Amino acid sequence: MDPIRKLVDGRLRPGLALALSLLGAAACGETPGAEAREAAVADEPWFGVVLPPGLTPHGLEVISERGAAPAVVPEGEARFTELAGSAIQADLATIVGFSHESRTSREVGDGLLWGRITGLPSGNQTVEWAAERLRAAGVADVELQRFDQSANASIWLPLSWEVRLLADPAFGTGSQDVVLESAMPLSGEIPAEGLTAPLVYVGTASPAELAHVDVRGKIAVQKAIPQGHTVFVRSPVGPRADALLERGAIAVLTVIDLPGNMRVRDIGCGGGTCFNLGARDGLFLETVLGAAAEAGRPDVVRARLQLSSERRGGLSAANAVAVIPGSARPNEYVVVNAHADAWFDGAGDNGDGLAVTVALARHFARPEMRQERSVVFVASAGHHSSGLSGPGSFVSMNPDIVEGTVLVINLEHTAQRHITPARSEHPDGYRQWTMDAHESPIVAGISNSAPFLEDVVRRGIERYGTNFVSGANTMASGEGGSYTRAGLPVFTAMQGPPMYHATGEVLEMVSTPGLERMARFTAFLVKEVSRAPASSIDPQ
Ligand SMILES: [Zn+2]
Repeated sequence: MDPIRKLVDGRLRPGLALALSLLGAAACGETPGAEAREAAVADEPWFGVVLPPGLTPHGLEVISERGAAPAVVPEGEARFTELAGSAIQADLATIVGFSHESRTSREVGDGLLWGRITGLPSGNQTVEWAAERLRAAGVADVELQRFDQSANASIWLPLSWEVRLLADPAFGTGSQDVVLESAMPLSGEIPAEGLTAPLVYVGTASPAELAHVDVRGKIAVQKAIPQGHTVFVRSPVGPRADALLERGAIAVLTVIDLPGNMRVRDIGCGGGTCFNLGARDGLFLETVLGAAAEAGRPDVVRARLQLSSERRGGLSAANAVAVIPGSARPNEYVVVNAHADAWFDGAGDNGDGLAVTVALARHFARPEMRQERSVVFVASAGHHSSGLSGPGSFVSMNPDIVEGTVLVINLEHTAQRHITPARSEHPDGYRQWTMDAHESPIVAGISNSAPFLEDVVRRGIERYGTNFVSGANTMASGEGGSYTRAGLPVFTAMQGPPMYHATGEVLEMVSTPGLERMARFTAFLVKEVSRAPASSIDPQ
């Protein structure tokens, strides 16, 4: 097969191979003959590579034609209508609405970044809404506990930016600049006039690859391929961006191979200038770089980066805290925590956990559902904004509750639908993704490895069909850190799916039956824990 054809594997428009051979001939100093001149007429912009699709802010780039598996309702539990998926989904839609407002109001700069941001109106309004919902659930004791950002702490917010591929006549007649709209800056500073440099593709930027590549003075393009859990690529990919900068790259673009063309606000570098790119922008860029390399002109593709940002300090936030007193041991507590903050729409991180927590408050506020121990619901301000820790503030502001807490249950990303690569492709050749009938795998972390809690998880899977992973572990990340540091045992339900800190994490990504599954399972867990001996919950 022709090497160029093989390279781009059908992603080119007709005429590309001829345009490329012409480019190659010019590079070698040959005079194009009549045949080549004729071909030049047929040449097309950007080597004939299909242009990337841009970014659809709240769009879902996943095939979702078939619905999710229904929730399992064990005998006797049908009357718990407050745990029905439809009711929880309605709250989730409201929660996601705070993020939409953040974007339309341009809460941050030009509105390219949005969310429910701790310390900004979007985050604070979400927590205030949660407090109202907890009161409306029938809980008498609901407090909005306000706190200030630590002195000297600040959050970095990118206000406006652009990653622009600069057109060159060598790419083909009619080539015009292409702005990669999925670009998301993670850190860095760029002078007002921008940063212009050639691009260099470095694969996964492993030492073996970098031994053959000179990145000095160039913008390095590396690739990250998450497998199931996006968080798992953080630790290898971030340091590799740092290594590229140390070797002299002036910036790093990380293509994250996930559905569609999303902005992803994760996997940073150590403070240098780095951006993430969505997969379809990434495919375009890789194909163009490949075509230029095949033509013997690897340095001809250049980009201009622009970025303005600010640091915000002196902010304040709040937790909403609701207490339902226990009937037998009111000074002992089961705490259910969910963080309210999010990047972008955040339907799965952590809109679903928060909506389930509000539903659980409705459930346990029913007089006949009163438990032996007190149940506390925390809509936490979150943990993304430096110096504004929701769980840390809860621990320091509620010493009596912490003293009597037998278990913290942290619901953090719990009902997003599972996705896998589809059999079909987008028009540019990028593989589509599709949902299946279940939730993305849920890690059940038990910080103290208590056999009793392990047994509740096992029975919960049998009873409700929750999609917990098989491997036992002590994970208590996200909000859990502040609680484990306070010496409390923590049960964490957490997904780390492909749609993570990404613009694709929209309302439709969350399973309505999955919300119900998690609500019913967690209600079961709270009841089991509330009547268990303390020595079973935390054997020491
Ligand atoms: Zn989270």
